[in-house]
Amino acid sequence: MSEPLHYRSTRGARHAAGIEQVIAAGLAPDGGLYVPEALPSLDPSLFDPNGSLADTASTLLEPFFRGSPMAGELPAICREAFDFDVPLRPLSFRNDASVLELFHGPSAAFKDIGARFLAACFRRLRRDAAAPLTIVVATSGDTGAAVAAAFHRQPGIRVVVLYPDGRVSPRQAHQLGCFGDNVQALRVAGTFDDCQRMAKAVLNDTELQSHVPLSSANSISLGRLLPQMSYYAHAALGWWHRHHRPLNFIVPTGNLGNALACVWVREMGLPVGEIHLACNANATLSDYFDGAPYSPRPAVATLANAMDVGAPSNFERLRWTFPRDHELRLQLHASSVDDDVIGDTIARHARDHGELFCPHTATAMHVLDGMSDTDLAWAVVATAHPSKFDSVVEPLIGRTILVPPALQAMLQRPAHAEPMPASDEALKHWLAYQTA
Ligand SMILES: *Cc1c(COP(=O)(O)O)cnc(C)c1O
Repeated sequence: MSEPLHYRSTRGARHAAGIEQVIAAGLAPDGGLYVPEALPSLDPSLFDPNGSLADTASTLLEPFFRGSPMAGELPAICREAFDFDVPLRPLSFRNDASVLELFHGPSAAFKDIGARFLAACFRRLRRDAAAPLTIVVATSGDTGAAVAAAFHRQPGIRVVVLYPDGRVSPRQAHQLGCFGDNVQALRVAGTFDDCQRMAKAVLNDTELQSHVPLSSANSISLGRLLPQMSYYAHAALGWWHRHHRPLNFIVPTGNLGNALACVWVREMGLPVGEIHLACNANATLSDYFDGAPYSPRPAVATLANAMDVGAPSNFERLRWTFPRDHELRLQLHASSVDDDVIGDTIARHARDHGELFCPHTATAMHVLDGMSDTDLAWAVVATAHPSKFDSVVEPLIGRTILVPPALQAMLQRPAHAEPMPASDEALKHWLAYQTA
């Protein structure tokens, strides 16, 4: 257990890299995603039962950073990234069910956690860098705002955010365009899958990279995935200490980064029970887990827009973790929830229980609602604050939602985004020209 961990691409074992390289590059040189050569195992007794989320994160991530020049700074990185609460709040209307609230960060969605961790790593990795680094981030809404907030005014870094024009909520669009300074927002005439493809295309372009050093901050970046494991470990270990049983999770899922973090925590030996993926009408994953062949497809627009993904990138990492279909299908359950049901779930919980959920969280609440009382303890993962999706939620509940102060401050700034065609070449040209 004292050996440093090596990383490789999902598409080939030849390229071995250390964690600094993996975090700096985002995507492996062969176009695959970085994964650890093997997931480490950790005994639950290694964790301090009274530790903070940052303490849990340091213990959990220590093997991933072992041997790295950043290893000694990991506790400080975790304190910077996890400087807000991630409460596991019991639900009043159902025994042994809770909500794991991941939305108390600056941009009011769980993407803050990965983005802040990545920014804390880059502050250290780029300390002595000569050339500025451009971080390209494709977003279905929430990633871009979290990355922009985390890197805003960080010296030596420029952030370029690509989002599908007209497919993010008005408040999300405002958040993406309101930073300015070192953050530029591009509204792409296409879908999130187009944005993601364009980001991958520029990151794979070595010719462009020799002029314009680029990195990614998408959920394809391992530097975002690893910190997301921390809140699952922290919630599950806390539950374990109090109740001596595993905690089971229902995870709103799009690109599969959040849920994969939960799967990896369980693989590492921590007390996570069942994992249920809650998807919107984009049913690629639920079809697969129902037994159909894996078939990525174009995304359709839904009320839970941050999950409008037809080709979830992290499926490649899930396949690496469980290479055989029959084995993989045993690991997870998945449901697809359409817009009518999302709307009904939001309205019903507001009316009957005074509980407000964002449309993404509502997919997971619906899955919980459909479960008969079992002796399993479930945590519904709440991925965004409902006020971020006021245009969806307010008409359903017939009143306005209070906006958290950090989000309020963003909404008061003016916003600007440039139009961009859904073309790899157009983005390459824009990036090359902008820095020239
Ligand atoms: C990004 C996002 C999701 C989906 O998470 P993945 O890691 O892409 O599966 C769900 N809900 C919200 C609010 C999000 O921003």
